Amino acid sequence: MAFPTPWQQGWHPDATRLDSPNFGPRPAQACIDLIVIHSISLPPGQYGGNEVQALFTNQLDASAHPYFEQLRGLQVSAHFYIRRDGQLWQFVSCDDRAWHAGASHYRGRSNCNDDSIGIELEGLEGECFEEAQYMQLASLCKAIRAHYPIAHVAGHEHIAPGRKQDPGPGFDWPRLVATLDFPHQCFP
Ligand SMILES: [Zn+2]
Repeated sequence: MAFPTPWQQGWHPDATRLDSPNFGPRPAQACIDLIVIHSISLPPGQYGGNEVQALFTNQLDASAHPYFEQLRGLQVSAHFYIRRDGQLWQFVSCDDRAWHAGASHYRGRSNCNDDSIGIELEGLEGECFEEAQYMQLASLCKAIRAHYPIAHVAGHEHIAPGRKQDPGPGFDWPRLVATLDFPHQCFP
């Protein structure tokens, strides 16, 4: 009988690992109780390339597309990235602090990067997401909750209202809720 491979120091065993330099230690005693869901695509609305991985590793060629100019010098990351086909990538150990949330506030605490895990879905605000992404996201959220005391799942739009709109109205929250056995109060 096969047993699932355990996580290693905050790294998911089934994710494609690509180390980002954009992370730091979490504050001492941080309670990692929040999952933040994002959407991203570069250029926006174009899928299948490697620009997001390049952005998170400071390798994006800012001259390659007019949209990329505004990203020049930006140092960001997320823990996870789920492609349109469900492929899972990881850039930062969940034990460390990734740089995905920015100025943010949720469940009475600010600086959500301190105590959250960030998941990027390849997509665009307002557009829908793929079946394979929902399946991978549900599996990932359950795996995360087996290792960390997750009590909240929210969108970037919920922790930075007015400043961020992702994952946006195309993301099916009831569907995510239905696929997870988390208490209903976990969700926005
Ligand atoms: Zn976001």
